[in-house]
Amino acid sequence: MSIFSRILDGSIPCHRVYEDDLTLAFLDINPLAPGHTLVIPKEAQATVMDLSEKSAAGIGRVLPRITRAACAAAGVQECNIIQNNGAGAGQEVMHVHFHVIPKSSEFGLRKQWTPRPLADGEAEEILRIMQASVEQE
Ligand code: AMP
Repeated sequence: MSIFSRILDGSIPCHRVYEDDLTLAFLDINPLAPGHTLVIPKEAQATVMDLSEKSAAGIGRVLPRITRAACAAAGVQECNIIQNNGAGAGQEVMHVHFHVIPKSSEFGLRKQWTPRPLADGEAEEILRIMQASVEQE
């Protein structure tokens, strides 16, 4: 059982921002910014790949509202929403969660991407795999 399941069952406290039948939003205990909020499904799944469409829709429905609230708390209009899946991708708590992180020059996420252009033929090969995966579900 993850620590977020214990927050959901009430055995650990949280600073609750919002709750409905499918989701809970609460302040991150180690925030990157004022208003840094975690939005989680009540369904206990480790990664977004395992999440039901119903829970995913529940998260999607509330994200804009929670994000507006987090930005209001920080007094900013910019933010990042990030979601880690798997320890290798930086996930520490194995219960799906979306980080809503207000951004200013003083606080928030620092983007460290190292992009490169698609190689010749690469997109076609990737699409062949992805379209087959999407279509078989
Ligand atoms: P991640 O690295 O994406 O798994 O993020 C886990 C997040 O959960 C971190 O930002 C932690 O600060 C946060 N966290 C862990 N325990 C708690 C807790 N009891 N209440 C609120 N946030 C927590």
